[in-house]
Amino acid sequence: MAAPLINIKEVSYEYEQTKALDHISMTVEEGDFLAILGPNGSGKSTLLKIMLGLIRPSEGSVELFGIDSKQFKHREWIGYVSQKSNSFNSAFPATVQEVVAGGLAKKAGLFHKMPKNTAQQVEEALDAVGMKSFSNRSISELSGGQQQRVFIARALVSKPKVLILDEPTVGIDVQNVQAFYDMLAALNRERNITLVLVTHDVDTVTDRISHVACLNQTIHFHGFKDQLHMMSDEKREAWYGHSVRK
Ligand code: ADP
Ligand code: MG
Repeated sequence: MAAPLINIKEVSYEYEQTKALDHISMTVEEGDFLAILGPNGSGKSTLLKIMLGLIRPSEGSVELFGIDSKQFKHREWIGYVSQKSNSFNSAFPATVQEVVAGGLAKKAGLFHKMPKNTAQQVEEALDAVGMKSFSNRSISELSGGQQQRVFIARALVSKPKVLILDEPTVGIDVQNVQAFYDMLAALNRERNITLVLVTHDVDTVTDRISHVACLNQTIHFHGFKDQLHMMSDEKREAWYGHSVRK
């Protein structure tokens, strides 16, 4: 059997004052669409950064594609859209196409003149998120939801096998959230992109995901999403408080 794409083993993480993660073990397999749920401050963003190798665990280890994360070199295999990625300076002058191309040229800065194959990859990534017709628009003119799609295209342009998203629907109008998750489900199903998503939209995501993990410093539950439906309303209320959208 193939190695899990992400394998977290007994991971703990401490900031100076705070223990954020406590002995977490979990795997992400190829094709999964995993939602990580948990109250504010429960360690969700920290866990994603551990998965990405952006921070090293205080204890435990992480394997990416079967390779210890300390040795793992293929960063382009894992796309990432951070929390609040779309709250950038609105005076930012770039076009949609330039923002997406930036996903290929992070170190080199923006292209003077975009090579033809780059332009093609950019088009493909924009197509995958339903934003192809916005190529030449200025990013600052777009709605929050459209901007978030562009940032996802930027993460997709290097053709990652896994895409990791931290609260991507913050800043998206409620009436557009369903369509946003449909777009993610299509990436998972039709383009075989493994998805790991932190979200509070528990009622909207459950129809689309395959797996769910409930986190609060430690993993309280990780399994098929069907088991989440079986969780009692009281338990869900205790988990999510007032952030549950009905
Ligand atoms: P979540 O994403 O679930 O809201 P985080 O992973 O951001 O949670 O944070 C988990 C805990 O670690 C919180 O108590 C938070 O205050 C703390 N924390 C997060 N980032 C830092 C940091 N850079 N320095 C110190 N403490 C932090
Ligand atoms: Mg967070």
